[in-house]
Order: sequence, then C-alpha cells, then structure tokens
Amino acid sequence: MRGFSTNAIHAGQEPDPTTGAVIVPIHPSSTFIQDEVNSPRGGYEYSRAANPTRSALQECLAALEGARHAFAFGSGMGAADVALRVQLRPGDHVVIPHDAYGGTFRIIDKVLTQWGVEYSTVDLGDVAALRDALRPTTKLVWCETPTNPLLGIADVTAVAEVAHAGGARLVVDNTFASPYLQNPLALGADVVLHSTTKYVGGHSDVVGGALVLDDDELAEQIRFTQNSVGSVPGPFDAWLTLRGVKTLAVRMERHSDNAERVAEMLAAHPAVSQVLYPGLPTHPGHETAAKQMRRFGGMVSFRVAAGKEAALAVCAGTELFTLAESLGGVESLIEHPGEMTHASVAGSVLEVPDDLIRLSVGIEDIDDLLEDLRGALGRV
Ligand SMILES: *Cc1c(COP(=O)(O)O)cnc(C)c1O
Repeated sequence: MRGFSTNAIHAGQEPDPTTGAVIVPIHPSSTFIQDEVNSPRGGYEYSRAANPTRSALQECLAALEGARHAFAFGSGMGAADVALRVQLRPGDHVVIPHDAYGGTFRIIDKVLTQWGVEYSTVDLGDVAALRDALRPTTKLVWCETPTNPLLGIADVTAVAEVAHAGGARLVVDNTFASPYLQNPLALGADVVLHSTTKYVGGHSDVVGGALVLDDDELAEQIRFTQNSVGSVPGPFDAWLTLRGVKTLAVRMERHSDNAERVAEMLAAHPAVSQVLYPGLPTHPGHETAAKQMRRFGGMVSFRVAAGKEAALAVCAGTELFTLAESLGGVESLIEHPGEMTHASVAGSVLEVPDDLIRLSVGIEDIDDLLEDLRGALGRV
C-alpha cells in the first residue's frame, strides 16, 4: 500500500488520457454526450449525479482514509445532513457530544427534531455515560475528537464498541484531526465526516465537506440521497480542495509543531488560567489521543484568567492571528467561540466558557506567532 503523501498527490489523479495534462482538469460541463440512449461515452451523464473533477477528489479522499467510498459535498453541513438523513427516521434517537460543533447541534436540535428525531448530549470521553444514554431506538452515535472548541478527546475504539453493542452506527467528525492525523474507520467507526473547508482544503479559499466509508449498502444510500437533494460541490470547488489536499501531510506536521510551541508558551503564561491542547501531558485525553492520533494537530484553546472582557481584548489585540471564524488554513486565526462560532449554542447545554479563546495555529514562523500572542496577552 502506498504512503499517505503519495496518495494525496496521486490517488484519483492520473494524467489526463486525452491531453496528457498532469493536473486533473476542472470539468465545468453540466452534461455529457451519450452515443446511444443510456450509453454515456465517458461514463458521466449529468454533474449533479457525478462529475469527473469531483470523482478525482472522492477517489483521493477515500485513499487517504483507507476506505472504499468517499462522497464530496458542497459543505461540511451538507455532508452532515445526508449522513443524518440516510440513517435516522422519525422516532429514532441519536447521541451527540456535549460539546458538539455548533452547526451539528443546530441541525439536530432545530431541523431534525421537527421530523421526530430525538437526541441526547453526552461527554463521549466517558464511555459509561454513553452506555447509559443509549436507548432501544438509538441508531447513531455522533462523535468528534478532538472536539470543537474544547479539544475534548474520545476513545474512538471504545465508543465504537459501545455503539455497536447497542445496535447503533458510529459517525466520527474527523475535521479537527484531518485524515493525516487520525483514521477513524480503522478504529471501528462506520462513517467519517470532514468539513474539507478546514485542514483538507487548507487555504481558507473553499467551502466543502465529505463522507468516507466502507459499507457498500450505506454508500449506495448516500449516493442516492445526495443526488436526490443535490448537495454537491461545483467542479472548481472540488479542484481547489484537491489542490489543497496534496500538501496535507507537510502542513499538518508544521501545524502540530507550531501548536505544541504555542500551547507550551500559553501554559506558562500568567494571564492564562487553562490551556486545552491534547498534546499537553496534563490534558485528560492525552494518552488516548497519543494512541489514536499521529500527532496532536493545530487547534489550541485557552481561558483568559481575567475573564470575558480580557478575552475579547486579546482577540482584538493580535496582528498575525487574524480575528475570524473557521480554522485549518495556513494562516493563524483567533476567535471567541462564545460570541462567534458557538453563539448558536448559547443558553443550551453546549454553552462554552465566556473567557475561552480558540486558536487555529497556522504554519507561519513560530517566533512571530509567539511574539504576537505574548504581545496581546501582555496588554490585558
Ligand atoms: C466547520 C465544521 C463543520 C461544518 O462544515 P462546513 O464546511 O462549515 O459546513 C463540521 N464539523 C466541524 C468540526 C467543523 O469545524
């Protein structure tokens, strides 16, 4: 089997047989010629159903997760919608993390409940709590690890065992780790979700999502539902994502190097009351993370000792760390989850501390990043 970076650069990306182009072309065509009725010349009919640029991306993503099937979507939430819709019916129950991504919580709490789906929130770091939360109607356990924005760690193998024993499937949102750092299917998950907007795309220039899995029957249901609802990425988006993914391994190594240094600096800083980073030996999920992840990734959250106003001032006080939502790009970002990415969970069980700051540590020079953060912390 080929290595990760070889797959990232070559899987699904053979030189174009008609022109010799080394890079996969962007195929904007919405429709494709048929030589006779129901006999498409190149295997494609209509770009909602399938498009060659999207197929190349899907083949690459499947290879990176070591899976049989991958489906690319117009966004991570488009992927989540189809993953939930194919597996849940009215009356079914789904377990989600107690600090789930805000958008995932919103689609379940605000949209799916309208269709009779029930849910519980559980700390998936606590396998006994998961076992207690399962009901006879539980069809799905939805896991994130590391979680957003609290960087909690769940043991994917243990969660899969409990879910399967209860007759439920396990979906793992692998966005924070990326396929380079963690492969949940190999740990027992049934479906992997990516917001390819983040590390997979890696350059903050495209929104996209993916579902990756082995099960042929479930894959057929996903194919059918995605084509039915139409949540597909355009060919240019698929191409940008494929361009980004080629460098995923080198980017993740550098993100991890830089984030480790940032976490160490913050842990020793008097203005910081707590650092949440699974790479720190003091993190409660450190051992589990070390077991199931190649490295600890580029996301670091921390709490500001002086409280919310000081946290807001730090967010506004950095120069290189750009104040913006999203994550996973080459540039460093800073944000206040309580007021920004996780505003939709305010007042719910998922509410996050108001002195919390989330960093997406980029791949700039580490000394510049440390100086920028020290400067902003020194002014509060
Ligand atoms: C961003 C994100 C999503 C949603 O993806 P979009 O591409 O924004 O629709 C889902 N899960 C996690 C963990 C994310 O960070």
